[in-house]
Amino acid sequence: MKLIIFGPPGSGKGTYSSKLKEIFGVEKIATGDIFREEIKKGSELGKKVEKYVKEGKLVPDEIVIEVVKEKIKNLENFILDGFPRTINQAKELLKITKIDAIIKLNMHEEIIVKKILGRRICSNPKCDGNYNIADIHETIDGIEYFLPAILPKNDMLCDKCGSPLIQREDDKEEIIRERIRIYEEQTKPVLEFFKRETKIPIIEIWVNRPVDEIVDRIVKSLKSLF
Ligand code: AMP
Repeated sequence: MKLIIFGPPGSGKGTYSSKLKEIFGVEKIATGDIFREEIKKGSELGKKVEKYVKEGKLVPDEIVIEVVKEKIKNLENFILDGFPRTINQAKELLKITKIDAIIKLNMHEEIIVKKILGRRICSNPKCDGNYNIADIHETIDGIEYFLPAILPKNDMLCDKCGSPLIQREDDKEEIIRERIRIYEEQTKPVLEFFKRETKIPIIEIWVNRPVDEIVDRIVKSLKSLF
């Protein structure tokens, strides 16, 4: 199965692609993660992309396309996260592979902001404890959100290691609104391209319920296609 996942920052794209990896055995290819890793390693590629990534600008198409081509070369099953971000990238992708479906996650901006401001992570860098104090029960434009808080058992201490919980440095309202704006700007034309020029099914999912229910919805939609 060859998939693309689109979704605004904070909609849980990372969570859902990891779940699809477990369920369907698809390889998760997240271009942003690849670039961050290469920068950390100080590789040739890392050096080439560093300034773009640091400034939140798009890495030139030739570089991104080369990386993705190399990654998917021998893969039968994958999910692309963060790629394609331009129409040119989408066209180049379709030259080298077919795509079976596109998953598009939707979430209202106000909910994303509440969720991101509610996020608390474990202060122990070796622990991946992740919680959310936002308890969201509200309806926007007819979409009923039920996203209960994910709280630790002991007041603001991590269940896994007992360390205090903290807020992430970059979980700030201005930053997240800017990232959502850039996402909308980049993603819309790419999705329109797929709708106009291809017959690839687009599965639209509102992320308005707890993770397991959303996973079920995505899995059912994918199964109904194949
Ligand atoms: P992300 O983690 O997906 O938000 O990506 C982090 C950064 O990596 C972006 O701000 C870009 O600088 C770069 N990047 C990731 N994917 C792409 C892509 N498909 N095209 C261009 N730049 C990308």
